[in-house]
Amino acid sequence: MTDLATRSIDRTALLPVALRNDFPILSEEVGDHQPLAFLDNAASTQRPRQVIDALSGVYERTYANVHRGIHTLSELSTEQYETARHRVQRLINARQLHEVIFTSGTTASINTVARSWGDANLRAGDEVLLSVMEHHSNLVPWQQTAERTGAVLRHIPLTDDGRLDMEAFERLLTDRTKLVAVTAVSNTLGTINPVAEIIAKAHAAGALVLIDAAQSVPHLAVDVQALDVDFLAFSGHKMLGPSGVGVLYGKEALLDAMPPFLGGGSMINEVKLSSFTPAALPAKFEAGTPPIVPAIGMSAAIDYLQSVGLDAIHRHESELTRYAYDALSQIEGLRILGPAPEHRAGLVSFAFDRIHAHEFAQVLNDQFGVAVRAGHHCTQPLHAHLGIAASTRASFYLYNTLEEVDRLIEGVLAVQRMFA
Ligand code: PLP
Repeated sequence: MTDLATRSIDRTALLPVALRNDFPILSEEVGDHQPLAFLDNAASTQRPRQVIDALSGVYERTYANVHRGIHTLSELSTEQYETARHRVQRLINARQLHEVIFTSGTTASINTVARSWGDANLRAGDEVLLSVMEHHSNLVPWQQTAERTGAVLRHIPLTDDGRLDMEAFERLLTDRTKLVAVTAVSNTLGTINPVAEIIAKAHAAGALVLIDAAQSVPHLAVDVQALDVDFLAFSGHKMLGPSGVGVLYGKEALLDAMPPFLGGGSMINEVKLSSFTPAALPAKFEAGTPPIVPAIGMSAAIDYLQSVGLDAIHRHESELTRYAYDALSQIEGLRILGPAPEHRAGLVSFAFDRIHAHEFAQVLNDQFGVAVRAGHHCTQPLHAHLGIAASTRASFYLYNTLEEVDRLIEGVLAVQRMFA
């Protein structure tokens, strides 16, 4: 354990290290024959054997296109695909099964709302309220919608410690605000935003709310009915599932009233040469062959996460984050981005004045086997606001250990010495 970590560790909050045995890739070596410490989970996570087996099981035994064939394999695939929808429904506590739309990921989910709901409902002068800490996926689609509709984008500013300025939020919320679209957890600052409060206040002002849950659903229990959220978006690959699948949750009445975004097979009821009638939910928003196998893999990932328990996962990550934060905050010249540990989820980003984030990532990988992310993490406006071009981000998940955090700290100190 690093002697820089002053805070005592609550080891009872940590998950058993044996859980790592479920993740074959964690035994790999990287860089200069170093055991892998995978701390790039906010970008994408690894998969347990249970998910890998579910994926290969489909290809070996049950694969066919869904909802189409009257043959055994198509029926089996359809059943597995629809079971995955049930799993997602239970995970986020959606009232209706057809409020769960499978997409290719968070980006596709947000674009669907921006194109479909946005184009149909926003008029010149209407306002969409975003925040300075948003991922590009929750900025660019709204910029495109604003260009098409004449809607105006406003941005909730941040406090000095990297939280949403809630007083400014209340000032920005007016009868012109039609939608508030914010992230539940910042993928760069780690900030956990008060989404319940945001939703209640937005609704009181007559605005709908979209929550970017890419960094929250994988780590924290989310209940869409308790939150009363209108739209929620997240990705399978950030929660132990495969890439290529994600979810758009929307309230039934809203989704029903929205025009389809993508056109093609599956999303229709009837097609004539010059017109079509759309299918009912959820098919209306699932044009073309959907992400069949990724969705089935995501379902296995949800089973796995629930067997460990999201509360236990959150406690584990919080402990690692506190430990990393305490140690990093004692390193001279290092600036930690974002709030104190009690306001953050399982990640820590940092920057040094004189050392580029890429130098950190390279040395950490090559000499310490520590995989971190370096760059702007798809939050360029946030980095510009912070006055830096790039940062280094360590992000944790259920399989990370204190020993890996120690290696991160050792590596950071080594880079500091190297470039001093
Ligand atoms: N929103 C947040 C907060 C994210 O962290 C990410 C991914 O990094 C995204 C959206 C985009 O997710 P995806 O690339 O899976 O569409």
